[in-house]
Amino acid sequence: MTAQVSAADLVAMLQDSRARTLELVAGLDRAQRMGPQHDIVNPLLWEIGHLAWFHEQFILRGPDGHPPLMDGADALYDSARVPHATRWSIPLPALPETLAYMARVHAALIRRLADREPTPEEADLYQLVIFHEDMHDEAFTYTRQTLGYPAPAFAASASARPAGTGPWPGDVAVGGGTWRLGAEPGGGFVFDNEKWAHPVSVAPFRIARAPVTNAEFAAFVADGGYREAAYWDAEGARWRDGCGAEHPIYWTRRGTRDWTVRRFDRDAPLAPDQPVVHVSWHEANAYCRWAGRRLPTEAEWEAAAAGAPARDGTLDTAKRPYPWGEAAPTPERANLDGGHLGCVDVAAYPAGDSAWGCRQMLGNVWEWTASPFLPFPGFAPDAYKEYSEPAFGTRKVLRGGAWATRARMVDTAYRNFFGPDRRDVFAGFRTVAL
Ligand code: FE
Repeated sequence: MTAQVSAADLVAMLQDSRARTLELVAGLDRAQRMGPQHDIVNPLLWEIGHLAWFHEQFILRGPDGHPPLMDGADALYDSARVPHATRWSIPLPALPETLAYMARVHAALIRRLADREPTPEEADLYQLVIFHEDMHDEAFTYTRQTLGYPAPAFAASASARPAGTGPWPGDVAVGGGTWRLGAEPGGGFVFDNEKWAHPVSVAPFRIARAPVTNAEFAAFVADGGYREAAYWDAEGARWRDGCGAEHPIYWTRRGTRDWTVRRFDRDAPLAPDQPVVHVSWHEANAYCRWAGRRLPTEAEWEAAAAGAPARDGTLDTAKRPYPWGEAAPTPERANLDGGHLGCVDVAAYPAGDSAWGCRQMLGNVWEWTASPFLPFPGFAPDAYKEYSEPAFGTRKVLRGGAWATRARMVDTAYRNFFGPDRRDVFAGFRTVAL
């Protein structure tokens, strides 16, 4: 997230985000665009209309006072007003009308940027709606996985595998000290839940150089880890028994030792050195107990990603927006933006290492932390009031972004948050020594 964002930057981001949305809807038939009634995912047809509604709401209608560009849009697409379970039965416009509404709103937003540079406040609102679309695009991506649809086709696909293959075992030592957890003011757009950096004390710790791999997680499964009561706390055991989990959700046992894993609509052999993904916070914790490890706290994760050693080895207070420093992500540094359409080995991207030697702190998989999602001191909701506040206290913090996350949105201060039972998200984890 850059401090100075021009009208041209915003137009480019709006166009890029919308192109990704359309790629994610492409190739699906009418039934797939609605999908089955589901507890978590939305009908895609509803969700794309909601994106246009959100753009309108925060740019054209609120600040400019324009009337909606579709009659009755609030009753269809306002996520705060339209209960999740009803989104399959309300009279949604068909795809051509939905796309036409989206195009009208998009054109109005672009026109608004043609005449003059945005104020900083306007630039923040534009980024809010762009990142909102980016988040939904990531959700579309895992919805296609959840429902077993074909993999999306992204124009910006990566042609070559990144440098580095295989496992990346071992820990690094991170020095203790006072860490300023959260976003520092003056760095450009940030979400309300990252405001603002505040001191927290971090004791020295040892954290894995890489996320837990499929091979490592398979050893936990093979050792009876899902059945051993000692590894599951009461809530985790309730979750496990409620959904009948015996292994990660998309794994299928082949013979005594081997697994295949479903990726979108195909099964493939489990890649041993890729990070385990689509595991819930409960599964991550059970693995940690089995391994004699634990999840990092949110502050530890951030210190390992954004911190650097002071001359005496303690934790320097200076923060990096990216593990490698100030420069924005590139395809050489992190598996973001969907270019590989999935995970790569945990040893990949040596150029993206943090100052302590942690690899892939950004990209590949989101990483569960031990921390509940709570407001930082002095929290006040921003324009999008329903974003953070309703989720405080019931979710866990994830950090770092996944392969489908847009690089423009994520940095070392970005806080994602999901319930501990979610395993549809592109989430894995890394562990800390006890
Ligand atoms: Fe939304």
